[in-house]
Amino acid sequence: MRIVLLGAPGAGKGTVAKSLTEFDGSVQISTGDILRNAVKAGSELGKKAKGYMESGALVPDDLIMDIMEVRMKEPDCQKGFLLDGFPRTIPQAEALKKLLEKIGMKLDAAINLDVPTDVILDRLTTRRTCSNPDCQEIYNIKSKPPKPDGTCFKCGSPAVQRADETEEAIKHRLATYNEKTAPLIDFYKKEGLLITIASLDSMQIRDDIIKALKK
Ligand code: AMP
Repeated sequence: MRIVLLGAPGAGKGTVAKSLTEFDGSVQISTGDILRNAVKAGSELGKKAKGYMESGALVPDDLIMDIMEVRMKEPDCQKGFLLDGFPRTIPQAEALKKLLEKIGMKLDAAINLDVPTDVILDRLTTRRTCSNPDCQEIYNIKSKPPKPDGTCFKCGSPAVQRADETEEAIKHRLATYNEKTAPLIDFYKKEGLLITIASLDSMQIRDDIIKALKK
């Protein structure tokens, strides 16, 4: 499948993308993960992105499009892709449309994960992420805690709170979402690609998406 996952930070895009990957082998492409890995590695991209990310602002569109131009042409994308956290602005959505036309691909759908704000806030403040860049398993101290010593069940690395999950950064990220990313819902509606899913359970969401794509 070739889909864009839309939704506020904390809506569950990453978790749903991971479960869809297991379903049909489509590759998950998370611009957030690519950027966090670049920051950890201290690369030029990471140095440019770090400040924006820590404050909860968006990284400039041209940097994001440079990454995605390269990533979308890699051979694993032929199996299908799940875009998680991209596009985040109208210019990115327009650039993606052009890029896909250029490489002869079409989106199947844009899935909007519609989650109430109180649920989002609760999820973001209780989320922990495995600090191993090759793992990045997502935990929640209430519903899916890491091991009692705070480490990851999969790889044993510490599960930590992300720098952009402080209360102040979360507020900034949600405001940025409402201003810059929420307009994409209308963009994809006009493109005839929008599917809205209101469930809160990731397995239910996965099943609803698979069912909706078969129609
Ligand atoms: P995420 O893990 O998707 O919430 O992304 C974490 C942070 O990376 C965001 O708050 C932004 O600073 C940056 N980021 C990720 N994807 C994008 C994007 N498509 N456009 C601009 N900034 C992005």
